[in-house]
Amino acid sequence: MHRISVSGLQVDVVRKDIKNLHLGVYPPEGRIRVAAPLRVDDEAVRLMVITKLPWIRRQQTRFLAQERQSPREYTYRETHHLLGKGYLLNVIEGEGPSRVEVHDKAEIDLYVPVGSDAARREQVMLRWYRKELKALIPPMIAKWQDIIGVTVDDWGVKRMKTKWGSCNIEARRIWLNLELVKKPVQCLEYIVVHEMVHLLERNHTDRFRELMDQFMPLWRHHRDMLNQAPLCHETWG
Ligand SMILES: [Zn+2]
Repeated sequence: MHRISVSGLQVDVVRKDIKNLHLGVYPPEGRIRVAAPLRVDDEAVRLMVITKLPWIRRQQTRFLAQERQSPREYTYRETHHLLGKGYLLNVIEGEGPSRVEVHDKAEIDLYVPVGSDAARREQVMLRWYRKELKALIPPMIAKWQDIIGVTVDDWGVKRMKTKWGSCNIEARRIWLNLELVKKPVQCLEYIVVHEMVHLLERNHTDRFRELMDQFMPLWRHHRDMLNQAPLCHETWG
């Protein structure tokens, strides 16, 4: 990877054995990255970035606005999300095992030992989020294995900074971003389908988009919903 400067913006350029230029702007600070075919020189990359400047600036503004939102502290009456819906947090200190319970479809009760700090409260919440997300995934994969006609040998959930999901084609393993548990369930399903379609088509080619259109005609809508929803506020370890 190397870095070029275009109209005062720093752009990371990676050369890969791919057919088309691919431009991405990534949270949290709006880093710009271009994946370029081996034969495409920096001048062509520069020209492409210039034509996309308004779009890049819009993305960066959006990320910065999200960054300005306060980080989560896991305190009383803070809002936390599950499957696209906001819940008010109750922090309940006491004896017994740490746990999380949803009640009245509006509040999340977080049970922790007396004197637990924000890191401990976050840990309990993340463990619960992981469990909630992991419960949704196997039936979803089973459903889409039948529809798409591929098999997933393994899957997992992890925290990722720049991706909603990824697919290891050789191992037939998909990874899903833990943050998806906070988004509407259609967003999770879109990412599951997207990663599974990679088992038929490695790159984001026209064929990839045709397959997505075939299996999930509303995928663009789900994608846009996912990218509009605020990103996480936690600091990523
Ligand atoms: Zn992909």
